Amino acid sequence: MTIKFRVFASGSNGNSGILSTPDGALLIEAGISRKRLFELMNETKISREKIRGILISHSHTDHCRGLPIINETLNLPIISSKGTRDSFLRFQPYDTRWKIESEKVQVVDSEIPLEFGAFRIHALPTVHDVVGSTAFYIEYKDIGVTILTDTGTILPNHLDAINKSTITLLEMNHDIQALYRSRRTTWLKRRIRASHLDNHQTIGILHEIHEQKEALLFGHLSGECNSPNYVRGELVKWGEEMDEFPWNCFICQRDAPGPTLTLSGNDTLKASEEPLNLSTLKALKENDPNQTDLLSYFPE
Ligand SMILES: [Zn+2]
Ligand SMILES: [Zn+2]
Repeated sequence: MTIKFRVFASGSNGNSGILSTPDGALLIEAGISRKRLFELMNETKISREKIRGILISHSHTDHCRGLPIINETLNLPIISSKGTRDSFLRFQPYDTRWKIESEKVQVVDSEIPLEFGAFRIHALPTVHDVVGSTAFYIEYKDIGVTILTDTGTILPNHLDAINKSTITLLEMNHDIQALYRSRRTTWLKRRIRASHLDNHQTIGILHEIHEQKEALLFGHLSGECNSPNYVRGELVKWGEEMDEFPWNCFICQRDAPGPTLTLSGNDTLKASEEPLNLSTLKALKENDPNQTDLLSYFPE
């Protein structure tokens, strides 16, 4: 049995990823173009015929802007909350292609998981600035995958899902000081604070994860108010407390797809790129005085 998971894109420019199993694949978010999606699927060696459904967490365009065109080709069920489905209906006067999409939506209720082929899909409401936004916890046999981005707070049921998951994608949207230093209006800064996780919030929750897992990916980084170096800086501090990263950790950058993660039988996880290594990051910190983001920008 081979399971593949890959984040194709993460951040306000577009979000998309895939979970592929012997019983079919789920596309998770459709915030990139059809052309880009199919290129990345080819690169990941997953055929489009394997996809059984498309999960959409909420109706912000970075999560669904490619959906009408992608589903012109795939013609698959869409899985979302009722609130997100209703948002698609509201898009119709502006773009008639959304009419077709809304009729194809299988609503997943926050109380009752959706049995969808070989998958059980849980929609976990998030604290975000749009109606019906959810995270997803996907079960396939004994594998669990959590996708948690676009939330101002990590709720107890999010934490339960993360603890049960083999692979988790977690938001690290902004560095709080970078956000406050940015030229955004006070209103917008407050809105971002309330609806996205900052680096410290996410690091804080890692101390609450006690179950063994294969991989943690950090994504949905802000372009203006975060950087992979800020995230690495926070992760070094967390890793130092633990003596080592307890799991395989990866940062999903805004301008490149994430690693392909492969689980086969009882083998440990294989990844197409090296996971973050604490001693390498610490050596960077000690040896390169120009690594200012990593060295001296440790906001309190
Ligand atoms: Zn988003
Ligand atoms: Zn959003």
